[in-house]
Amino acid sequence: MSESSLRVVWVYPDLLSTYGDQGNVLVVERRARRRGLTVDRVDVRSDERVPTSGDIYLIGGGEDRPQRLATERLRRDGGLERAAGNGAIIFTVCAGYQIVGNEFINDLGEREPGLGLLDVASTRGTEDRCVGDVIADIDERLGLPQLTGFENHQGITHLGPGVRPLARLRMGRGNGTGDGTEGAWQETVFGTYMHGPVLARNPQLADLLLKLALDVNALPPIDDRWYEALRAERMAAAVQPG
Ligand code: GLN
Repeated sequence: MSESSLRVVWVYPDLLSTYGDQGNVLVVERRARRRGLTVDRVDVRSDERVPTSGDIYLIGGGEDRPQRLATERLRRDGGLERAAGNGAIIFTVCAGYQIVGNEFINDLGEREPGLGLLDVASTRGTEDRCVGDVIADIDERLGLPQLTGFENHQGITHLGPGVRPLARLRMGRGNGTGDGTEGAWQETVFGTYMHGPVLARNPQLADLLLKLALDVNALPPIDDRWYEALRAERMAAAVQPG
């Protein structure tokens, strides 16, 4: 983190922001400010350069064509890879998750190289789209409460040896390969298929990103009653797809 403020970068809101994923940046920003931190939020449109000096980068989901355009621009730009090399925290959802992997199948049916920040590779699932509620137990190394979210994707993601699954599924399709995993993480880069927005439904995950960025083990507690009410309501409403 820079001397003065926490730099939170929201990557390509014009191309990647489905199902309320913008809420993720609002939650990170809000929870940092509630801890007395000064936050410098930077929204980077796809015709702008990605700054390399951010502390936390957030990328949302997107439809297939915007996903390809975003990937081409991010590859050309190179800023996100440099930020990752600087140890930035990168949190990605759905299309964002596929983009930071090694490759995915684009809207033209071709293999599109990703940014290679997570050792995963995505293909197009042969089954129905994965749509519905997700409940999953997060990796015990991260030690957080059960995750809640919802998913809507056609791509499925295979994990390489360089990553750990972010979570184990209780409900939903997650990575979609039938191995019971959801998402992936590797050092400071995280990917998930969960929308919701996922950081509103799982505020401890937002706090994890803040703790990693600040290099601290704990943050001052804040009033989480509204988050808890949302979590409880969404957990109770979750239905197994028929
Ligand atoms: N286009 C991708 C897929 O269908 C990601 C979708 C999304 O981000 N919601 O797999």
